[in-house]
Amino acid sequence: MNQNYNEMPNGYLESIDKGIQTVKAFSGHMTRGKGTQEERIQRLIEELRNADAIVIGAGAGLSTSAGLTYSGERFDKYFGDFAAKYSIRDMYAGGFYPFPDAETRWAWWSRHIYVNRYVLPPKPVYNRLLDLVKGKDYFVITTNVDHQFQKAGFDKERLFYTQGDYGLWQCSVPCHKRTYDNKGKVVKMLLSQGFSIGQNSELSAPVLENGETDFSAVSTRIPSGLVPYCPVCGEPLTMNLRSDDTFVEDEGWRRASAAYAEFLERHRDKRTVYLELGVGANTPVIIKYPFWHEAYTNDNTFYACINYGEAFCPEEIEDKSVCIDGDIGDVLWELS
Ligand SMILES: [Zn+2]
Repeated sequence: MNQNYNEMPNGYLESIDKGIQTVKAFSGHMTRGKGTQEERIQRLIEELRNADAIVIGAGAGLSTSAGLTYSGERFDKYFGDFAAKYSIRDMYAGGFYPFPDAETRWAWWSRHIYVNRYVLPPKPVYNRLLDLVKGKDYFVITTNVDHQFQKAGFDKERLFYTQGDYGLWQCSVPCHKRTYDNKGKVVKMLLSQGFSIGQNSELSAPVLENGETDFSAVSTRIPSGLVPYCPVCGEPLTMNLRSDDTFVEDEGWRRASAAYAEFLERHRDKRTVYLELGVGANTPVIIKYPFWHEAYTNDNTFYACINYGEAFCPEEIEDKSVCIDGDIGDVLWELS
């Protein structure tokens, strides 16, 4: 297949531009919306029932609701040695830590990748969401990189992972725009540190008599021979996560970006619900602003925001929005 990607729409940049332009026109006054919690949920049930299409926009709060938390028990169990040695408080902080060498960095990242990308989430929130949109014409845009939509069975052709995927590596230069599945190599790294993989793909650590991880039997480094390098130029491989302009938008990414733009265009005249789940207020440009833009500029659209502690919308779109404050998994249960 010979495709010219320059001629395909870039739904990522297009929607960000529109969102920013629209937000500039708003007064800046936010509202938590009208009605009781029950009335809001009832209204969303009706809007979803009457919708021709649903666009789901998902942020970190959705995975938190599914139990994929970055601190607490999950952190203590798999990262206690890193916490003690480098004073790292949670997985989020560890992702930015300047480790002393590649062997240590990959020991960290192999654990981080595996427990967030390859194990099953503690709670079936993504499955519940899929049940809600099954049979509907839907599309998902997400800043989450943990692959949970596909693991729950969402149609890959209806997904756009804007910020990358924990399961992919890329050249750190980058000398070419390809990504590489990392599962096999990540598992080898984990085994080399003293972990094992359980029957249900869970990561098993050696344990003490009291049940806590025996970190004296775990290494915070991998052997040098397991450090991954680019097969083309020989420079180190790195995570395919957007942090700066070296992020590789591979063929799958560009196809998904175009599919997102095409989906929005195709449903412009149809009744569409923009369902925003767990998008943080500190990174609003990719999902939140573009969704506000759609609600503001198109009479056929309805905006719903489900968020734990941060459910609000601009006054300008209050009448065609519903904001529901609560745990996403719980709210989805009430909607179904
Ligand atoms: Zn390279």
